[in-house]
Amino acid sequence: MAHDMTRLKDWRLSVDGERIAWAAFDREGENANSLGRRPLEELGAIVEHVEGLARSGSVSGLVLTSGKPKGFIVGADIREFDALDSESKVIEAIRPVNAMLDRIERLPVPVVCAIHGVCVGGGLELALACHYRIATRDDATRVGFPEVRLGLFPGFNGTARSIRQTGPLAAMQSMLTGSMIRATAARAIGYIDELVNSPHQLRWAARKAVLQRRRSKPAGWAKAVLAKWPARGLLARKLRTETAKKVREDHYPAPFRLIGLFETHGGNLEALKHAETRAFAPLMVGSTSRNLRRVFRLSEMLKAQAPKDLAWRPLRAHVIGAGTMGADIAGWCVASGMEVSLQDISAEQIKKGIDAQGKLFARKFKTKAQRDAAEARLLADPGGVNIGRADVVIEAVVEKLEVKQELFKSIEARLKPAAVLATNTSSIMIEDIARPLADPGRLIGLHFFNPVAQMPLVEVVRGAASREDEIRKGAGFVTAIDKFPLVVKSVPGFLVNRVLAPYLSGAMQRLQAGEEKEKIDEAARTFGMPMGPIELADTVGLDVCAHVGRVLSLGASGSELDRMVSQGKLGKKSGEGFYVWKDGRPQKAEKTYDKAALERLGRELVEPLIAECERCRDEGVVASADLIDAGVIFGTGFAPFRGGPLHFKAAEAAGAGEPQRAAAE
Ligand code: NAD
Repeated sequence: MAHDMTRLKDWRLSVDGERIAWAAFDREGENANSLGRRPLEELGAIVEHVEGLARSGSVSGLVLTSGKPKGFIVGADIREFDALDSESKVIEAIRPVNAMLDRIERLPVPVVCAIHGVCVGGGLELALACHYRIATRDDATRVGFPEVRLGLFPGFNGTARSIRQTGPLAAMQSMLTGSMIRATAARAIGYIDELVNSPHQLRWAARKAVLQRRRSKPAGWAKAVLAKWPARGLLARKLRTETAKKVREDHYPAPFRLIGLFETHGGNLEALKHAETRAFAPLMVGSTSRNLRRVFRLSEMLKAQAPKDLAWRPLRAHVIGAGTMGADIAGWCVASGMEVSLQDISAEQIKKGIDAQGKLFARKFKTKAQRDAAEARLLADPGGVNIGRADVVIEAVVEKLEVKQELFKSIEARLKPAAVLATNTSSIMIEDIARPLADPGRLIGLHFFNPVAQMPLVEVVRGAASREDEIRKGAGFVTAIDKFPLVVKSVPGFLVNRVLAPYLSGAMQRLQAGEEKEKIDEAARTFGMPMGPIELADTVGLDVCAHVGRVLSLGASGSELDRMVSQGKLGKKSGEGFYVWKDGRPQKAEKTYDKAALERLGRELVEPLIAECERCRDEGVVASADLIDAGVIFGTGFAPFRGGPLHFKAAEAAGAGEPQRAAAE
């Protein structure tokens, strides 16, 4: 069927004086390019059109590029995934795309992919079907296969093409980890063939590649040999062992299916392409992937809590208190590009806090110049002279009401008029802290979690008097430092600690009643929690647990905690709590337990947490049930593949409480 190339909505096609066809992907009405149904159909039409032009000698090559200023392709359009609710629908949707990618590969003229910005998932699969790939060296340019994070693996034949291009080891590692690979590293392993310094040079380089008929070379013999038997079997075994250290097959089947696929078909890439579709379809309709897609949507929902129309831009932060939390909050803000001043009554504490950020900067910044710049943005400010310049002032001093009140009272008059004023308190009511302020409506809570660099959530706490504007700015600040804001009402424990407390307390009561701690922890992990509750209590610190327990009046387990704290058993930080800790690890007795018993116990352990979530929903602690799920997943690590505590409970009630099964068939 002939298509009118002037009526494309998501692509622009033009042929220049040198007969090079330029197809620019610019999805209509969207900030980013994703491969939804219409752009894929239009690309199919472009390919057909170019095939015709190539036959008649009217084109010398095809270049795929992006019409968006910032990114190339963010992947397939996951908003369309849920409509594919049966394996046959999945296969029906995938087959024509894979046939089209084969046609791109078979085009008789050179096909070059010119990449600036993110090119991941389906975008990288499309790029790999081209004959040659050029990318900018820009820091924003990343390639990778993040599908595994959605409980999937590449489904547009990216499994076979990545193995062909980079060899099995690099390909499998990139698909199993979902890592976002920088352009230089991608060039080194073979995903990219050529690098240019800036987006302006892409067009010229692509033109040259077409005219010189450049073609990417597949992985050399030394890499490809790992696809042959018996090396393939050994590699598959190694990958399986490595993966099993990170996730359980019954919770996250996709990486294990991918390894199986490689083991069986990795020696024959055509067979692998067919087998990929058959293995992909059940994962797509299985509940692990559905729930992980839900978690992705929840993260978007959290980000949407930050107002888009905010004119206020936070550039400078002032953090008071350079202890465990304050120093890391300051470091994190600096790593996000802000200038930060750090205050404490102890100069030594400030120095220690600043020095400790070296590790974060080393992880975040690749060049020495960037690390030096970050260090220069973090100022020691024992006298608080920078308070008046800050857009956000965060207090993270000791958890004592009078100290916090005194501090806020002393700084209020020195603040910039539009500055956000926040406390990181975990257990004191915002209203109480705000009481002595001349303008109590100004104070909000910004409750970070420990460790700051790892925990993606920040609760934005609305005190009874907190002004809506301040909450909006607070949420805007949280997204500006690349965390997820969750707006919560000021209730004891806010959302996350409030739902965690009965869960921990229930586990401790079982322990007191004679259940083994190792069994309790293993049962919670069997349910899908990242860490068991006893180990978690030790990690958080038993003094902190006892304090939170008192605030939330949890009773019984509290007295045992107080006893342990008075003996100096604080958990991980003191070397002993419920466990003895060595080299940062709890010393656990090696035991195996009956799987069914662990499953039963795991479910019972999370019940108090779920019940508390239901109460929070009913009391409107956050705006919706979905936001409770989002907060609990990102604030506690609650089994993401179960889609959140309330979602899990509803699915269980509807008789779909065995999420892993569907995907495991
Ligand atoms: P911390 O004891 O490690 O640090 C507190 C710091 O505040 C100390 O360095 C101390 O010198 C300093 N300080 C005390 N009074 C001060 C004052 N008047 N002016 C300036 N500095 C002063 O405490 P932390 O664990 O970092 O907790 C800080 C706050 O964060 C508390 O409100 C706590 O509830 C909250 N919080 C803690 C955690 C956690 O896991 N530790 C998690 C979330 C929130």
